[in-house]
Amino acid sequence: MLCTKPRDGNAAEEAPRLTLYYLAVGTDLVPMHGETTGIAGLLFGPAVGGSRNAFTRHWMLIHRPDGTRIGTRVTQDLPYAYAREAVLWLAGRDLDWNRPAEQVRRDPRAKDLQTELHGAFMAAQGLTLAEPLFYARTSWLPAPPPWRIWQSDRPAGDAFATFEAAAAEADLHEPDPDLTVRRDDASPGWTLRCAAPLCGDGSPAWLTVDDDTPLHGARDALTADACVLDWARASRQHWLCPDCVRDHQR
Ligand SMILES: [Zn+2]
Repeated sequence: MLCTKPRDGNAAEEAPRLTLYYLAVGTDLVPMHGETTGIAGLLFGPAVGGSRNAFTRHWMLIHRPDGTRIGTRVTQDLPYAYAREAVLWLAGRDLDWNRPAEQVRRDPRAKDLQTELHGAFMAAQGLTLAEPLFYARTSWLPAPPPWRIWQSDRPAGDAFATFEAAAAEADLHEPDPDLTVRRDDASPGWTLRCAAPLCGDGSPAWLTVDDDTPLHGARDALTADACVLDWARASRQHWLCPDCVRDHQR
């Protein structure tokens, strides 16, 4: 499994826009709309096939340099999540796609990258679990120490995730000079988050039961919870939430 990360400030974060191009399919030129990817010369678009060039429900990346309307495919047909990940995967590798098709075709590095990307996709499609092309983060994180209301020199009642929540609770009582809000010294254990690069659009899912507060505790206990809640273990460091497991099925 490849682990990579786009460089900071990559142009892949520019607002996308739709662009007309003509896809060469056999002897036909099929008019299509593709979305800009932030990588000059590469578009993201629907895959078409069959005698009527109908939408296959898969997606692909298209090479269409500035100054031409003809597009040629860069990837095979891919499920949506993989095609989106392929953009990030290519953004992290330094290749100028904004060149005429003939130049890109003759560039051995472009060919190598396409072969490598295909290999990464085949490797990601495991027998028991379809994984992302790469992972964006490790899944295990220590839970932050909680906040508590203290009365005199003893903690009173529940733990709170934020100072504000504990302070708001403390204000419900009569003003009391003995009440203070303090943070615990130690983490209460581990939390688990999804490692897929596009999970939650930048805010990945946490293992939780019915609210936004991540479950925390010992790793063994969280592992058991994760299995019950349909999370999938990809490796020691990487877990996938149920949505990302589903998104990577072919
Ligand atoms: Zn996820």
